[in-house]
Amino acid sequence: MTFFENLPIKRKLMLIGLVTNGVAVVIISIALGISVWSSYRSRAVTSLSIHAGVIADNAAPALLFSDEQAANEVLGRLRTEPTVVYASLRDGSGGQVAAFEAPKRHKTPPHLPSPDDPLFFEDQLVYAKNVVHERKVIGTLYLQSDLRDIQWELLRQLSIIASAMAVSLSLALFLFARFQKAISTPISDLAEAIRRVTEERDYSVRVTARSTNEFGTLASGFNTMLTAIRDREAALAIHQAGLEETVRQRTAELKTLNETLEQRVQEELAKNREKDHLMIRQSRLAAIGEMIGNIAHQWRQPINALTLLLANIKDAYDFNELDEAYLYRSVETGQTIIQRMSTTIDDFRNFFRPNKEKAHFSVNEALEDALRIMEAAFRSNDIKVVLEGEPGVTAYGFRNEYSQVLLNLLTNAKEAIQSRKMMPGTVRIAVHMRAGQSEVSVEDNAGGIPPDILPKIFDPYFTTKEKGTGIGLYMSKMIIENSMDGVIEVGNSPTGARFSIVTPA
Ligand code: ADP
Repeated sequence: MTFFENLPIKRKLMLIGLVTNGVAVVIISIALGISVWSSYRSRAVTSLSIHAGVIADNAAPALLFSDEQAANEVLGRLRTEPTVVYASLRDGSGGQVAAFEAPKRHKTPPHLPSPDDPLFFEDQLVYAKNVVHERKVIGTLYLQSDLRDIQWELLRQLSIIASAMAVSLSLALFLFARFQKAISTPISDLAEAIRRVTEERDYSVRVTARSTNEFGTLASGFNTMLTAIRDREAALAIHQAGLEETVRQRTAELKTLNETLEQRVQEELAKNREKDHLMIRQSRLAAIGEMIGNIAHQWRQPINALTLLLANIKDAYDFNELDEAYLYRSVETGQTIIQRMSTTIDDFRNFFRPNKEKAHFSVNEALEDALRIMEAAFRSNDIKVVLEGEPGVTAYGFRNEYSQVLLNLLTNAKEAIQSRKMMPGTVRIAVHMRAGQSEVSVEDNAGGIPPDILPKIFDPYFTTKEKGTGIGLYMSKMIIENSMDGVIEVGNSPTGARFSIVTPA
């Protein structure tokens, strides 16, 4: 079956035609042959039995009168029958009365048949017929015929049938071969076109529509499809060319970008460094400004004390009360005051000296440092500090920088209270240790930060103050989040702004 399935359609059609026609013709021929063959025997028997009947009727008187001559005359008439080769007329007791024999053609049968029961042997037929007179059997006639002539006739008929069969088969094949082209040619055309399309990618091929039947529809459909594919291929090619061009351009751009990237990164880095330096310088200047302000606050009281001391010395001299002991006492007091002023300068100097390495430090002490610096400024602005929380809270990082962040928050709180005239002011400071982290919160009572500027206060240069720099909170965020891996956050409490600093302990 696979062999048949793999045959080209042309061969397949031929084979189908050959087999179906062949089978039909052979069956018809066999049927014809069988009918001719079977009729030949009955025809031979009928013909011989008619002869036998006629001869038996004619021979009855001769037998009745035992007239041998008349009997021989009756049988002699058979000479005109070319197929009859032997005849024998026997009386009731089986004795032969007369006989006829065609020379050399008579063959002896194996036995004599009963009346009306034909016996075929070799190529001859024997037929026996009773001779009857007045319903009485008076003898028997045996007739024997040669069947070869009839057989030749039979062969002739069969060969005519065979020739007709051969001719009809050839004719059928010839016609089939012609007609099958109408089916196989369009299919072969289509197959060839498909081969060229798939193997050679040739979309210009077209199948000829030879008819308007299904094959015609198939061919024109195929052609339409090919046209569509060719158009699409063309569009694709254009698109691909465009894409390739874009990729080429992008690659070139990327290459250039890559080449200049390093340089640009360096430039940006340099710019950033420059900006950082600028910010650091500005923040240092701001810190120095604040420091001088704070020193001024811290020194106001000792300067007043010194002024008073000098005035007292002058008064004592004017009233002649300046003795040695008074002078010594006054000089000692003056030196103590000056010593305290000098300590203040040292405190400030230490405070602003940056730490070189990270270390564990006491958050409580760092807070005390910042508060000491702010002490005088808070006092002169009538601001009270409420401290709560626990002792022994530690953090890991740069201690002085951390103190400066607290100082920024305290300074901002003081300025907010001043500008909103909330004196007497309160600054609440809480120090805690939570989940292995230190937390310091600074909360004032200046009313808080307007919600619209809340997200911007850590941005560099963002300020709402006339003489502000906008650097303080930005630097604070840098120190806590970038240098110390902590978090600084802001929110508004019912009384004012609340900042919280969380750092790893
Ligand atoms: P500067 O103090 O120079 O303005 P900062 O970065 O320290 O710069 O502060 C930015 C801004 O944040 C301030 O100008 C102010 O508007 C706001 N701000 C900071 N702290 C407070 C506070 N405690 N209460 C209200 N506003 C504050």
